Amino acid sequence: MSQDNPSQAEYRAQVAAWMQHNRPADPGFLLPQTFMEVGSERVLEFLREWQHKVWSAGYLGAAWPKKYGGQGMSRDYQRIADEEMKRLQVPICFNVIGLGWAGPLILDNGSDYEKEKYLKGILNADDIWCQGFSEPNHGSDLGSIQTRAERDGDDYLINGSKIWTTMGNYAKYMILLARTDAQAERRYNGLSFFLAPMHRDGITTQPIQKITGEYGFTETFFTDARIPASCIMGEEGQGWRIAMQTLQYERGAEAGAAGGISILSIVMDDLLRMAAEIEREGEPLLQDPVTRDNLVKFMIEEKALQLAEKRTEIPALCRDYPNAIALSGKLRSTEFFRRMRQYALTLQGAQGSLYMGDQDTIGGGFWQRAYLNNFSTTIGGGTSQVQANIIGEHVLGLPKD
Ligand SMILES: Cc1cc2nc3c(=O)[nH]c(=O)nc-3n(C[C@H](O)[C@H](O)[C@H](O)COP(=O)(O)OP(=O)(O)OC[C@H]3O[C@@H](n4cnc5c(N)ncnc54)[C@H](O)[C@@H]3O)c2cc1C
Repeated sequence: MSQDNPSQAEYRAQVAAWMQHNRPADPGFLLPQTFMEVGSERVLEFLREWQHKVWSAGYLGAAWPKKYGGQGMSRDYQRIADEEMKRLQVPICFNVIGLGWAGPLILDNGSDYEKEKYLKGILNADDIWCQGFSEPNHGSDLGSIQTRAERDGDDYLINGSKIWTTMGNYAKYMILLARTDAQAERRYNGLSFFLAPMHRDGITTQPIQKITGEYGFTETFFTDARIPASCIMGEEGQGWRIAMQTLQYERGAEAGAAGGISILSIVMDDLLRMAAEIEREGEPLLQDPVTRDNLVKFMIEEKALQLAEKRTEIPALCRDYPNAIALSGKLRSTEFFRRMRQYALTLQGAQGSLYMGDQDTIGGGFWQRAYLNNFSTTIGGGTSQVQANIIGEHVLGLPKD
C-alpha cells in the first residue's frame, strides 16, 4: 500500500469498517472466484445485491462524475476502496464488462445521452453488460470477424454468432463488434462498434460448461436481429479503433475503470496456510526445507508483482508508453498465479488429483477450482502469447509478429 495522506487514511479505515460490517453472510452455495463464473440466477442475484450495496455506500464509481452515479472523487480513493475489498476478500463486483470496459469507453467516447442512459445502471448493477468480440473461428484474430451488421432504415440487421460471451444469458447490453462493410480494402476498416441491446427478437444464447464444471459464458446467436442504428458508437468503420481501446482496458490499462474487485484474491498467505495444515511424515509441509525454498521464491515473485503495480502510480515511470507496466502486469500476474496454484496442487500429493465433490479433497477442492479457473485469466482478454506479442511490438518496439 502506498503512503496515505490523513484524509486517505481516514477513508481507508471507513471503507474497512463498512466492508467488515456489511460483508454478506455465507449464502450456502458456491460463490464465483471470478466474474467469469456467474452461472446461476441465485448467484447472479446475490452478486447484484452486493454490488448495489457497495455502490450505494459510495465505494464503487468513486472517481466517476456525480451526475452519472459516481462520487466525483480522485482515483486514489477508488484505489483505496479496491485495496480494502481485496484485502478483506469480500465478494466480487461482478458487472465487470460494464465497470471496467464499456463504462470507461462510454465516459471517454460517449455522447451525453449515452452517458446518461448507461453509466448509472452499470454501477448499481441494474444493467448487466457482456462483450461480443470472439467468434467460433476468430478469437485472437479479431480483425477477421464475420458477424454482419447491415443497415436497414433506422436499424441494423445483425446476423452471425459470438462465443465465450461472459454473462451473455444475463446481459441487457453487449459491446458488439460486427462487420458493416465486407468489401472494405483493409478488413479492419469494415468493422463497427455497437452498444447493442440484448433483449431483442433474433438474439439467443446457449450456456457453455467450463472445465471447472461451472457455467459463466454462452454462445450467442444473431438471426436477423434488429437493433436501432443509434446504437452505433462513433461512425461506421471506426469499430476497430474502438475495440482496441476496449482491449487496452481489458488487458490491464485501468484508466477510467469504476473499480471494485473482479477476481477473488488468492495469494501466498493462503498457500502458506495450506502448507501449514498439510502433514507429510508427521511434520507440516511448511517445515520441509525444499518446500520452504520453493515457497520463498513464489513470495519474492508475488512481492515483485505488487511493487511493479505500485510503479503505475508514479507518472514519471509511465511516460514513454503509459500502459506498459499494466500490460506486462496482466501477463506476469496471470501466469504467476497459474504456476502458484499448480504448485499448491503439487503440495497436495495424490489428493491434488481429486476434485470438488470428492470427500477426500483438501479444503473441498478449493485449489483445484482456483487452478482451473485461472485459465480464464491467461486466455480471456487475449491469451498470454498474444499479450507477449503486444508487449514485444508496442512496448519494446520489436518487429511485428
Ligand atoms: C473464461 C473466458 C471468458 C471469456 N469471455 C469472453 C467474452 O465475454 N467476450 C468475448 O468476446 N470473448 C471472451 N473470451 C474469449 C477470449 O477472448 C478468447 O478465447 C481469446 O481471445 C483467444 O481466442 P481463441 O479462443 O479463439 O483462441 P485462438 O485465437 O484460436 O488461439 C489458440 C492458441 O493460439 C495462440 N495464438 C493465436 N494467435 C497467436 C499469435 N499471433 N501469436 C502467438 N500465439 C497465438 C493462442 O495464444 C492460443 O494458445 C473468453 C474466454 C475465456 C476463457
